[in-house]
Amino acid sequence: MAFKKRFTPRKKFCRFCADKKLPLDYKRPDILRDFITERGKIIARRITGTCAKCQRKLTTEIKRSRQMALLYYTTVHATYVRKRTV
Ligand SMILES: [Zn+2]
Repeated sequence: MAFKKRFTPRKKFCRFCADKKLPLDYKRPDILRDFITERGKIIARRITGTCAKCQRKLTTEIKRSRQMALLYYTTVHATYVRKRTV
């Protein structure tokens, strides 16, 4: 099989359910950033493994965070945001 070794299968789990102390909050762009692509897109649940409940919350928090300018909408904004937060 040509595709066999391309991905290492890993058990997916919801990071927010696994670690109750991990805040799902718009004030934590450092955490939210793990769930968006470099281009600012929210990563699908089937890829991150986040459960439906948390994904729903996550989406709202990411959008909220964008509006507070803690996260970026596109790569054009990314440079500004990164300079300030990282
Ligand atoms: Zn969850």
